[in-house]
Amino acid sequence: MQVLDNISLKPYNTFGIDVKARQLATFSSFNDLESINIKPGTIVLGGGSNILFTKDVDGLVLKNEITGIQELHEDEEYVYVKAGAGENWHRFVLYCIDRNWAGIENLSLIPGSVGASPMQNIGAYGVELENVFWNLEAWHVQEKKLVNFTRSDCEFGYRESVFKRKYKNQFIITSVTYRLHKTPIFHTSYGAIEQELERMGVKALSIKAISDAVINIRSSKLPDPKLIGNAGSFFKNPSVTDRKFLELKQRFEEIVGYRNPDGSMKIAAGWLIEQCGWKGFRRGDAGCHAKQALVLVNYGNAKGIDICQLSDEIIQSVKDKFAVELEKEVNIF
Ligand code: FAD
Ligand code: NAP
Repeated sequence: MQVLDNISLKPYNTFGIDVKARQLATFSSFNDLESINIKPGTIVLGGGSNILFTKDVDGLVLKNEITGIQELHEDEEYVYVKAGAGENWHRFVLYCIDRNWAGIENLSLIPGSVGASPMQNIGAYGVELENVFWNLEAWHVQEKKLVNFTRSDCEFGYRESVFKRKYKNQFIITSVTYRLHKTPIFHTSYGAIEQELERMGVKALSIKAISDAVINIRSSKLPDPKLIGNAGSFFKNPSVTDRKFLELKQRFEEIVGYRNPDGSMKIAAGWLIEQCGWKGFRRGDAGCHAKQALVLVNYGNAKGIDICQLSDEIIQSVKDKFAVELEKEVNIF
């Protein structure tokens, strides 16, 4: 296990925030984890694409590099595939598409690691990780043992799981097993996918075509963290009651809502933020992206605290204008 002292975390977070960690250790097996004394609260990093550092870390940061992809078994309908938590998520998606294992094609090009995929039940274009999740193994930091989590143990919700809430910083996910379809069920309900498939001239739908469409849409809309620091959507899309949505619709005709399975209405947070005039806003090197207001960006040397302060101002202005409370999606340390 490699341990580096007093190191900048700038290359390890897609926001490109320059904070220091007293120690950074990379681990590639759970045997490595057994050999060190990890304090509860120690930060575990995958790709650093859903994190905002607001201060130096006066302790240990653990970087997960457990690799390996294994086809465990299959039945008539499904194939069960286990992946090391340090595998790159998008490479894993492409690996599955190559073998015609379906279910995660809509989640193409999401940055980060396999191990972080259950953390916030990653989702995009109508598919969420929980749709294909089978189980995971995680290292219990205090009890120093591996624990198995089934889907119900993870208590998945909209960009939520137990690992983000009640077990925050208590477990290190070491592997995830996915149950993928041998015969695909296509999800093209998001308008942008249908439009892109049409533009691409796709005649016979396939998981590869959907993945390509998603990659095209994302590449045209989202800032590339290699060029402009960001962590994707900074806020979750808020849900409101039917009644609240109708009230808003009367005042703001253009507001768009989507019905959730529980009957509540989901509103696009990006639209709310744009209406408050933040889209394209920049103060110093902290800003709100000009193409997608949901994404906060670091143009170079912003501090985590600058981004955090901007996010609080955005939350306040959305609250003042719409009486809707935005919640941060990004993990703030
Ligand atoms: P990190 O940022 O390294 O970590 C995130 C959190 O998980 C931290 O709290 C960390 O401590 C914890 N963690 C990481 N690995 C482990 C582990 N092995 N065990 C325990 N805890 C761990 N997200 C979506 O859901 N949908 C999207 O469509 C999407 N699009 C994005 C687009 C862009 C351009 C960017 C920059 C981000 C996007 N995201 C999206 C957010 C992000 O990519 C995902 O949340 C991703 O799963 C984070 O993975 P990571 O390895 O980078 O996690
Ligand atoms: P979009 O297509 O412009 O739509 C705006 C919002 O409306 C989305 O966030 C989505 O909610 C919702 N929406 C759109 N069509 C919908 C439908 N048919 N049914 C239900 N809800 C619908 O969104 P976008 O910003 O370009 O993002 C596209 C997808 O990628 C979204 O699913 C988004 O979540 C995901 N994404 C996530 C991140 C992240 O960091 N979390 C970053 C970029 C993109 P949902 O977000 O609930 O899907």
